[in-house]
Amino acid sequence: MSLEELAHSRGWSDEIARLRHSICEIGKLCYAKGFIVGADGNISARTSDGTVLITPAGAMKGFLQPEQLAHVDMQGRVIDNGPRCSTETGIHLVSYRERPDVQAVLHCHPPHAVALTLAGIDMQIPVIPEIIVTIGGIPTAPFGTPGTDELPESIRAIVKCSDTVVMQNHGSVTLGSNLLDAFKKLDMLEHTAKILWLAHCVGTVKPLAPEEVAKLLDTRRKLGIRSVNTLENQCGVKKP
Ligand SMILES: [Zn+2]
Repeated sequence: MSLEELAHSRGWSDEIARLRHSICEIGKLCYAKGFIVGADGNISARTSDGTVLITPAGAMKGFLQPEQLAHVDMQGRVIDNGPRCSTETGIHLVSYRERPDVQAVLHCHPPHAVALTLAGIDMQIPVIPEIIVTIGGIPTAPFGTPGTDELPESIRAIVKCSDTVVMQNHGSVTLGSNLLDAFKKLDMLEHTAKILWLAHCVGTVKPLAPEEVAKLLDTRRKLGIRSVNTLENQCGVKKP
């Protein structure tokens, strides 16, 4: 059955059908890239009526079909007869509440980024020019127990001022203007973690000098990049 035929049979709008399909495609990518294993992670998108489509509890997110997604309101209540949503839905809802500009949220367990939190290595350190110019850095949220309100509360302060978060001993949260944008930031986050991992294996990691960081942020302004940047807004920056 084509997506159009499925949408027609289920009574979905074009927008709902497109978002359901895109969430499944992003799930395949996250699984293929090793950002999730087993039934890890959750992927969501906000619809134009303010509801949220999200991957269901307990499913393998790399093998989902569009009809298997949960459709919830901003309190996390299922609004159709579909599957129940993940216990980690609170991560997504707090992100949408704090950031009206955000339309997609990905929560994954990228191994290198999580490993750096175990080792106490801060991903806010300014080392990669591309990261400094775009997202700035990647703040770490304090540990929150999964399955409790601690988890969304642990990221609330950071998602207000950052599109990328690593959660202590747990995973990542990336926010985007659409699903691909949130995936791009997840990809950048884990790539940065791999570089930091490799560098720590062979030597001492030194941050770029403050004047170099200032020049890169000046380049960002000249390029007209207006996305959220944690070095510009001093989000999650640890005081020395
Ligand atoms: Zn998780």
